[in-house]
Amino acid sequence: MTILITNATLLPCTKDMPVVENGYVQIEGDAIKAVGAGPPPAVEGAEIVDAGGDVVMPGMVNPHCHMAMTLFRGLGEDVDDRLFRYVLPMERKFVTPKMVEVGTRLAALELIEAGVTTVADMYYYETEVGRVVDEAGFRGVVGQTIADFDPPDHASIDAGFALTEELVAEFSGHDRVIPSIAPHAPYSTDIAVMNRVARWADDHPDVPVQIHLAEMTSEMEWCEKHHRMTPVEVVEKAGLLRKGLICAHCLYLSGGDIEKMAAAEVCVAHNARSNAKAGRGIAPVEALRAAGIPVGVATDGPMSGNTLDLFSQFGPVSMFQKLLGKSRKPMPAREVIRMATIEGARVLGLDKKIGSLEPDKKADLIRIDLSAPRTQPAYDVYATLVFAVIAVDVRDMMVAGRWLMRGREVLTVERKKALRDALQIATAFKAEMARIDSQA
Ligand SMILES: [Zn+2]
Repeated sequence: MTILITNATLLPCTKDMPVVENGYVQIEGDAIKAVGAGPPPAVEGAEIVDAGGDVVMPGMVNPHCHMAMTLFRGLGEDVDDRLFRYVLPMERKFVTPKMVEVGTRLAALELIEAGVTTVADMYYYETEVGRVVDEAGFRGVVGQTIADFDPPDHASIDAGFALTEELVAEFSGHDRVIPSIAPHAPYSTDIAVMNRVARWADDHPDVPVQIHLAEMTSEMEWCEKHHRMTPVEVVEKAGLLRKGLICAHCLYLSGGDIEKMAAAEVCVAHNARSNAKAGRGIAPVEALRAAGIPVGVATDGPMSGNTLDLFSQFGPVSMFQKLLGKSRKPMPAREVIRMATIEGARVLGLDKKIGSLEPDKKADLIRIDLSAPRTQPAYDVYATLVFAVIAVDVRDMMVAGRWLMRGREVLTVERKKALRDALQIATAFKAEMARIDSQA
């Protein structure tokens, strides 16, 4: 089956980040066959999609989130100790395979509607997450959390590894669902446990490793107190600072930390909005990228950042670096879109497969309508995407040659049921919060 998308403002997100006017994309099966300008080749029986000048670009990559936490979106907003007051006790009480399934399905709807075709997730009962990703048709690096704080799905580290093994057994070789292991953070996963993860990863070179790193001052103090080291040094000591490690946050880094990260070839998921909402700080994105470290645009969980869509991150990603540099120049719009596509794919080790529109890559793409008054005129389409477009402007989205959304209608997730199931759980959460508050 051939699909020809024609008459597009094409952003292939290749090396120089060009804008191709009157562009076309030829899709054969799950892959891109050709990309170019002008009239497309004539292919008999092809489905022709006239984009009418809309932007067509690679599907976006969100390299750090906790999808099931959609159910916690905005819960306990502005309460400084909400993590210990509400979230951890409620996770212990309510996180079940079913809750993870329902929360992830709500996330799937949101991600598809926002043009995110690939995510990296870290949560509990991650096999459930993988199943929802599979069914909804997008791409996911699904990371089973391993932690020492008695998380809801594993009472022991052995049990955490057993869950990881199950995840790997179910999805190894899957084209779109990539099993991953996620030691939570240096302060919550003992150095010996991180070392065990490192050894396990040596035996499973195709399984990406994700971790939260250098995210908050309490983590810096903890690492200093217990190890007299920075979090990056603790991870290095555990043998985990290695090629392809997906490090979320990375706010507090010394020059030495950045050198170590670059030498080890780790990657970074930048969560500008979530970090800002918690009053934590700004990751040194320009310094990381200058050191050759790939950085992707991520959302973090919807409890912390409220959304899973990348458009709501773009403004902060650009503006925070401009604030740090006290200049208009840092983090130009083109670079933000590069980070959200091909560089994000590199963060997840998937840049040979996705992230740009080029022959032989998987056909993961989105179409964005720029006809809304708030997006016109569009002198620089990259600036329009970063500062003016919002998620509802995404019109169509395709993963591996399959339409997941057309004309804003999501084709692979039952919208009404997904919302109804989520709101049912939210009602129980509300009652529990009231109970906690009444006891305070
Ligand atoms: Zn996170």
